[in-house]
Amino acid sequence: MTRICVSIIEDRPEAALEAAKTAVAKGADMVEFRFDMMKVLPSDVSFFRRIPIPKIATLRTAKQGGGYTGSEQDRLAFFQSAIRAGFEFVDLEHDSSLLSKRESDLKEAKIICSYHDLARTPSPNEVVQILVRCAAKGDIPKAAFMVGSMTSLLDLIDAARLFSLTGKEFALIGMGELGELTRICASELGVGLTYASLERGKEAAPGQVDLQTMKKLSGERIVTGIVGHPLSHTLSPAMHNAAFATLGLPGRYVVLPTMDNELETLLQVAVELDLRGFNVTIPHKISIMPFLDRLDASAERIGAVNTVLIEDGQFIGFNTDVYGATMALMSVGVEGKGTRALVIGAGGASRAVVSALSDLGAKTFVCNRTKEKAESLTRSFKNVRSIEVADAQNEDFDIVINCTPLGMKGFPDELPIGSEVLKSGQVVMDTIYNPPKTRFLAEAERKGATIVNGEAMLVHQGLKAFEIFTSKQASYEVMLNALRGVLY
Ligand code: NAP
Repeated sequence: MTRICVSIIEDRPEAALEAAKTAVAKGADMVEFRFDMMKVLPSDVSFFRRIPIPKIATLRTAKQGGGYTGSEQDRLAFFQSAIRAGFEFVDLEHDSSLLSKRESDLKEAKIICSYHDLARTPSPNEVVQILVRCAAKGDIPKAAFMVGSMTSLLDLIDAARLFSLTGKEFALIGMGELGELTRICASELGVGLTYASLERGKEAAPGQVDLQTMKKLSGERIVTGIVGHPLSHTLSPAMHNAAFATLGLPGRYVVLPTMDNELETLLQVAVELDLRGFNVTIPHKISIMPFLDRLDASAERIGAVNTVLIEDGQFIGFNTDVYGATMALMSVGVEGKGTRALVIGAGGASRAVVSALSDLGAKTFVCNRTKEKAESLTRSFKNVRSIEVADAQNEDFDIVINCTPLGMKGFPDELPIGSEVLKSGQVVMDTIYNPPKTRFLAEAERKGATIVNGEAMLVHQGLKAFEIFTSKQASYEVMLNALRGVLY
């Protein structure tokens, strides 16, 4: 059983007391008062006695990432007054001279001996050695490391597994966005004490998760995420976490930044932490495939994976982009049979859209800046041909879809094809969702076409992935609003 300790970072004692009462009411097992974050160190801390759960007094030094700059003598005097006021724990850094007072001036409290590396995670052996040294100096060893890569995350997991063999209560924390998993999945790692913020925005360390979320995830939980690199602009966490929240499911969707040479490491992490699955985005949609045990028909046909389910230790690849594209087209009344469609672009999005059009029975043409890529794409599908951009401009189409990034925020605000292709009565789709109405869609609308942007495709692929992970149907509106909340 992992204890959850809430770190209180208020700058006034009265506010800290109120925050601690809230933490108790919300089910925290312990509270840590970060006195180094207060504007002035309180001379009397006796009123904290009212807090009925174990309390930690911390005066983190600047060297270890805190705000305390006073002398060790003053620190000792403060901790003694805290112990008199009923504080059960004192947190001391591994190199503090006050550790020598453990059996004398500080003997009425238990010592949490802590180590912080705000820059990196060392090797598992080094982490274990640090914990062993902290265990020798205090009652509970605590070590926190910045987790900068999937490899570092696995190193921390390995270290936790090794140290847990001692049977001693310890805290081992990963900082940063990848470190979040070491907090959520602390019990899987044998970690006995983990830290949470009282609420979002009140984090004492990067990657700290709020108490309510930690409590929600403390039993049976569903942890999923998105694998790719870079992931700074991903909208999937907002969409999936909103769906978890609305359905009242104990779930969490995290970012899993993974470099090209770390896919195997990612799979090990996923097994170690009992992840339910993950989405896959650029640049791993194809390179993940050799690592999977099997592919569902959707992934097999399109030759790319955007969703992986982990079931009975097996990794199963799916592609929900095709479903997303199909649903987006059907939502504006597209009935494929007997229609002619033009797809501009021949990358990943195009592959999903062409597959959807092919399933719907549309006669599809693909044009692309690099002709060979269009030709190569069409070979995978029946009823699909490549066409030169210049020739496409002289043809009639019922459906026109942009699958290039032209018009997307941060890219040239150009039409992906001459506007003469766009006509009244067509369905015109842009896979871009930011901005919501590209010049391409505005031009199509002006000409009397029915338009649809990339939101529908994105949300539908997310809904399908969510269903694969949870066997539950999330609401389209909930995911859409979450995505818009991040975007606009
Ligand atoms: P990709 O695999 O890199 O393919 C990009 C395609 O666009 C290629 O065919 C490329 O042509 C073409 N292209 C790029 N820059 C161009 C330019 N300046 N002029 C003409 N053609 C250009 O990218 P992707 O993953 O398919 O993404 C394409 C778009 O779809 C992006 O805007 C992305 O946001 C969107 N998307 C939306 C969803 C959704 O769910 N709504 C899902 C995935 C992607 P070459 O072959 O000549 O390089």
